[in-house]
Formats: sequence, C-alpha cells, structure tokens
Amino acid sequence: MPEEPDLTPLALKIGEQIARQGVMPVLEYMHACLHDPQHGYYRRRQAIGAEGDFTTAPEISQMFGELIGVWAGVAWRAMGAPARLELVELGPGRGTMISDALRAGRIVPGFLGALRIHLVESNRALKEAQRRALAAATAGLAVHWHEALDQALPGDGPTIVLANEFLDALPVRQLVFDGVAWRERSVGLDANGRLALVTGPPAGTVDVPSGRGPREGDIFELRPGLDELADVLGRSQRPLVALFIDYGHAAGGFGETLQAIRRQRHVPILERPGETDLSAHVDFEDLARRLRERGLAVDGPITQAEFLLGLGLAERAARLMAGARPGQIGLIEAGARRICDPAGMGGRFKVACARSAALPVLPPFPPAARQGGP
Ligand code: SAH
Repeated sequence: MPEEPDLTPLALKIGEQIARQGVMPVLEYMHACLHDPQHGYYRRRQAIGAEGDFTTAPEISQMFGELIGVWAGVAWRAMGAPARLELVELGPGRGTMISDALRAGRIVPGFLGALRIHLVESNRALKEAQRRALAAATAGLAVHWHEALDQALPGDGPTIVLANEFLDALPVRQLVFDGVAWRERSVGLDANGRLALVTGPPAGTVDVPSGRGPREGDIFELRPGLDELADVLGRSQRPLVALFIDYGHAAGGFGETLQAIRRQRHVPILERPGETDLSAHVDFEDLARRLRERGLAVDGPITQAEFLLGLGLAERAARLMAGARPGQIGLIEAGARRICDPAGMGGRFKVACARSAALPVLPPFPPAARQGGP
C-alpha cells in the first residue's frame, strides 16, 4: 500500500486486515470505525456539540432534556410510583439530556428520591464529560456507568430506559441484490490499494420486508444490534418502559442510509475512517417488530415535533422566555423551533415507546386503538 499522508491510522489498519483476510463486511467496517480500541471514533474524539462533528437535540435546547425528565416522572407514576426505579440512559453523549431531565424531574414529588441512575457509555472521554455534567444534577444520587447494554439491562427492578441518537450508531449490514441473491456489501481494496466498496459474498437467508420483490442493485440495511437490544429488554420480568428517539423512518424498505459526518458535513463513508461519525437511519418498523416478538407493547413512532409539542414544549418555551434576559429570548425561541420544526429535526426524528404490556399507553402517544394495537 503506497505511503499516503492523508490516510488515517485506522484506514491503514483496515487496509492491512483486508489484504490479509479478504473483504470486510460493512457491518464490521462500521464497528471498527466507531469502536476500534485504538482508533475508533467514539474511543478518542469529542464528537458532539456545536464545536464537534454533529449536534443533537439536547445540545440545542435545554427544553429537550427537561421535557424528557417530566415524561420519565409521569412514566414512573404510571408504573405505580415504585420506591426504587432504575433509570438507564443509552449513549448519554455529554450528559446534557440526563442533567436537564433530572433538574426538571424535581417537579414530580418523590421521583428523584426513587432513582438509581445507569449510564451505558463505551467512550472514556464522554464518560468524564458525563461525570462533570452530572455532578450538580445528581448530588446524593447513585450513578453507575456500564460499557455495554447487557451490563445495565435488564434492571433489578422497575426500569425506564432513555435513548436519544443511540440506535443510529448501532452498526448496520448492507446487503446488495445481484439479480438472483443478496450479497454482503463489503470494503475491499482497489487497484491502488485504497479502500473501496465491493459486492461481497452471499448473505445467506435474509428476512427482507414484504411488498415489492428486490430488483438488481437494491440495497437493504439490517441492524443486528436491535435484536440484542430487544433480547435484553424482553428478558426483563419487571415493569419496563423504554423511549427511543432517533432519526429514521416509520416503515422499512430498500435503500441506503449509512452516512458519514465530519465537522457538521456529509463525507463519503470510506473517507478518513476513525475521524468521521458513521450512522444510519433507524427502521422503526423493524425495531417495533423485534420488541413485540419479545412480548413488549410498542407505541408510535410519532414525530419528535408531535412528542415535544404534546409534552408542552410551547408552554415551557413561553415560561422560559418570560423569565429570561432580553438577549436570551431569541435563543430560547430559536432552540425550540429547531428541535420541533416539522421540516427539520421535528419531522426527521421519530419517537417510539416500548413498555411492559401491562402498563398503560403513556402520553403523548395516542391510545393503542388508534395505532393498530400492540
Ligand atoms: N444521546 C447523546 C449522544 C448521542 S451520540 C445526545 O443526544 O447528545 C451516541 C452516544 O452513544 C455516544 O455517547 C457514544 O459514545 C455512545 N455509544 C455508541 N455506541 C455505543 C455502544 N455500542 N455502547 C455504548 N455506548 C455507545
């Protein structure tokens, strides 16, 4: 492989592995890009926030986390206000959402006193950021960190799980239909030794969405991590509520959504591995199917705009603006608009809630009868 100063250490490492072992499935490539022990994006980079590669709803407006906190308090009451509640956040980023949530959760009497907090985070630098962000919000509360899902779940008792922009980071397989069969899209090397997308080996039996049959060149994305997630949630014998907020589509289908973001811009997925954030749309239909197969009820998805407005975003913004200094009023309003604009994040992001079947539908999700039932 020629010496090229523009190759990242991870590009070299992956290139060497491909030269030794053959093509690498996109699933494995995405996993390496995010989690490689030395060079993975999440291992070494401060990724999130206005200065980072991408920004998220809790980083845009404090009202996002605050409404989630009140929602969690309402969910706790719907569970019968148990004396102890395991509150689990998956992929807390800089800890902003959970800090805002806990601050707002104070208005639900008894809620904070019941909490044991669990943060599932694989990135050491972000764990530190979370510790700092949470210091003020959690005085006197127990906080536990876990590197992986199955260390935190299922919880010992009644559990609420929160996940904002976590599922989109779970690696995907990309399958390509060659006219006869599905094949594993993979990363190989071109004639110059550079990483290149190739059509890899047969993918085996694939459970593709019903509807029209595949045509040559169709791409289908599958996210095996959803199965693992559904397994751990489904294993819980205790009352469970899990809220998933992510960008994605309500109904599955063919198409490619894997994308790379670097410094707030889209770049090709093979560019500068380890230095770009890779994510792919969440297929909420697939998520719901897997959760229902494990006996959980699923509400939604509804849009983020419906969710936030249903929880009182407009009223909360009006109250904040009434008490704000003049210079802040515009910022509060702009933040609220940005997280609930139906043409932007408010429409692109969807919210789904999984719950033990014995628990009621939680607001602001519509009653089960209007959603086609669990
Ligand atoms: N929820 C945050 C951050 C979203 S970015 C926000 O809204 O701002 C994705 C987060 O998930 C990061 O904290 C990342 O380190 C973490 N993460 C990604 N994959 C993970 C995995 N497999 N296990 C644990 N944490 C993971």
